[in-house]
Amino acid sequence: MNKKNQFSYRPDITLLQKELIRDISWFIILRWHAALGIMIIPWLANSILGLHIKLNIFIFLGVMVLFINSCYFYYVRVLKKRHLTDMVYFYRIADLQSNLDIIILTILIHYSGGIESPLAFYYVFHIIITAIITPKRLCYIHTAFASLLFSSLVLLEYFGIIPHVSISGLLPLELHDKGAYIFGGLFFFVSTLYITSYLTSTISSRLKTSYIELQNMDREKTQFTLKITHELRAPLGAVRSLVKVIIDGYTGELPQKVRELLVRVERRASFLLIMVNKLLELFAVGKIKMEEAIDIDINLLIDRIIKSYESRIKEAQIKLTFKKGDKLSLFRAREDDMELIFSNLIDNAVKYTPEKGDIFIKTMNLADNNKRLKVLIRDSGIGIKTEDMENIFKEFFRTRDAKEIAKEGTGLGLSIVKKIVEQYGGKIYVESEYGKGTTFTLELQ
Ligand code: ADP
Repeated sequence: MNKKNQFSYRPDITLLQKELIRDISWFIILRWHAALGIMIIPWLANSILGLHIKLNIFIFLGVMVLFINSCYFYYVRVLKKRHLTDMVYFYRIADLQSNLDIIILTILIHYSGGIESPLAFYYVFHIIITAIITPKRLCYIHTAFASLLFSSLVLLEYFGIIPHVSISGLLPLELHDKGAYIFGGLFFFVSTLYITSYLTSTISSRLKTSYIELQNMDREKTQFTLKITHELRAPLGAVRSLVKVIIDGYTGELPQKVRELLVRVERRASFLLIMVNKLLELFAVGKIKMEEAIDIDINLLIDRIIKSYESRIKEAQIKLTFKKGDKLSLFRAREDDMELIFSNLIDNAVKYTPEKGDIFIKTMNLADNNKRLKVLIRDSGIGIKTEDMENIFKEFFRTRDAKEIAKEGTGLGLSIVKKIVEQYGGKIYVESEYGKGTTFTLELQ
């Protein structure tokens, strides 16, 4: 098997929300590196620069960050899995992460020299990250929090309320008790944080606004195309039936040449009608209300679809095996969605499997309560070349071999399947060996 394509999307959320979830996951990855840095850099500083940093506390803090980050990692995974379209959970975790990061950084700064610590620059990164993932107002609050924590630390050390931890070998003289330096430093520190916060959140909110505008424009364009497509259906249907009436001889005998031409017109009109209907199906995905979901017997549904291909399968002498999962009976979904998914996948398997080929379909449920479903559809057909694999889910894409074996495909079936799978937050994998066959594996939850 030469290549695996995988789709895994969350349903019902906007691009901006997807972006937030991606950013949160990205920051979790960055934090793994930061945790290792907390443990390794002081040790390197001691070994290379000859400083005398107490390593125990840094190792302890590094391990703590690792632990906290594992909790974030697990929690975000749970949120993603459960399809929580309620974004409030994600905003909460973004907020929690920013606050905890600022607290941990302040502790690190305390143990690496307070106002003398070069680590203080790292607040700027926090502010940038916060400006990216939180709204402007919240970002200012985080900036105030960071300023407050750092100023308190420095002032508490200045007034001797908490001890100052100096790193011997770092600076030629101590600065934590020099009033002018402390107050001047704090002024520039706080203003740097606010300027960073202002600049980054302004750029970030401008980008978000452009993002929303683009999304709206895209929606309008889709609406326009949908309207045109819809308007095309009735006249196309009329053209086809009228031509059929003439071909069938109801308007009198036709010269052979005219008849041949009209048959071609009718065939083209039928194909256009199929295309229009497929496009309308594609547009319809996403507008679906999940309240319409019912318990569906997937085995029965697949049986019904197979039956509609019976004559094609017989004619091509294809051996079709359907292995039904024992436990699997009902799956909660919209019937039309499941029908579209399985009819498109089975249609492809039949269409792209030459005579005397094999098709194997297997249903399985992955967990109790009929909440997760896995279906495998394997054929011994024409297969897909490695370079085409990433394109097959794109609208109107058809491989050269597919066009040869089935002239009248639309290239829209898999786009429809992909969109529905996205809606259910499921995954679809495809494995294929060119000239030998293709397997689609579908996981829905
Ligand atoms: P259509 O089948 O109408 O062309 P689809 O969107 O269903 O459109 O499929 C897109 C393309 O993916 C097909 O044209 C074909 O090249 C490839 N494809 C899909 N299913 C299979 C399959 N079972 N075997 C080989 N190629 C396939």
